[in-house]
Amino acid sequence: MEKLKRIKAIGLISGGLDSVLAAKLIMDQGVEVTGIHLITPFSSRSSKGADEETIVQKQAESLGFQYYPLYLGEEYIDLVKNPKWGYGSCMNPCIDCHIFFLQKAAELMKEEKAQFVFTGDVLEQRPMSQKRTMLQMIEKRSGLEGLLLRPLTALRLDPTTPEKMGMVDRTLLLGIAGRSRKIQFDLAARYGIRDFQTPAGGCLLAEPGFSARLKDLFDHDISDVNSVETLKIGRHFRLEPEVKLIVGRNERDNMILAHLAQDADILLETEEGSSPLCILRGVISEKTLDTAAAITRRYSKGRNNPKGVVLARHCDSGEIIRLVPETISESVIEILRIA
Ligand code: SF4
Repeated sequence: MEKLKRIKAIGLISGGLDSVLAAKLIMDQGVEVTGIHLITPFSSRSSKGADEETIVQKQAESLGFQYYPLYLGEEYIDLVKNPKWGYGSCMNPCIDCHIFFLQKAAELMKEEKAQFVFTGDVLEQRPMSQKRTMLQMIEKRSGLEGLLLRPLTALRLDPTTPEKMGMVDRTLLLGIAGRSRKIQFDLAARYGIRDFQTPAGGCLLAEPGFSARLKDLFDHDISDVNSVETLKIGRHFRLEPEVKLIVGRNERDNMILAHLAQDADILLETEEGSSPLCILRGVISEKTLDTAAAITRRYSKGRNNPKGVVLARHCDSGEIIRLVPETISESVIEILRIA
């Protein structure tokens, strides 16, 4: 018994139900669990409005394990841009992503002198990344061969080293498979687990609209964190191959865009107020500035005033230019619109 208490495991905790259930199953065997929660530039908010990290924090508090949040930036964007194993139905490189996350967990396992890593994977829950052969391949590529336990589906997989060595009692693990989440929801009710993200929530890379915007960025060879952040808000237009306009849809968008604006950007808004804030970014000519001003006015309350003035402010110098653009047609706007 004393020996069991010293066993340590690292769990990949996503904020979803499966990973917290896996943590519960492992902790119930007397194993000390440390969670790692990876936050990517593509992590989204749940339908209840709580962000992933808040949910993971609540899960850790209620079950009683410590966890480390790990923020990923350019390194992860590069992976999304050039996935070795390709994309799912959108821009989601789930296989590469799983391997990458597990490599991070493996690093923490070594640092923490833990004996194994566990995840909330369920055989065949997802069409590609959770096929048996894929689970095996992902385990191998992550460098965790034999040391990766999937407690929810373990009985359908070969025994892992911690099971063979008696660190974990295999008979107390589960054999869930397939897409139905009924067993998981029943277990959540039994254990009183209420804080978790919906299965569909969590990753913007699985959303078609966001993916179209991201593809446009990558197609124009842009992949910095700031540009990715802008994709989460507003309306997006590509005015020229080198020029992009982002139009705020509401006060919140406007505030975030003001925060994301960079020195080389131009900020546009109408003189009369009640207007979106817009970022114009790229190699800007007089023509694109006029088009951007026309779009800015189109989305303002003064959209029907052909004499309405748009102010364009250079972020670096603070210089402000007054523009009275030609009215732009809806069909042209639709052509320029990204998603
Ligand atoms: S859905 Fe997103 S976070 Fe999840 S494995 Fe796929 S790419 Fe990674």
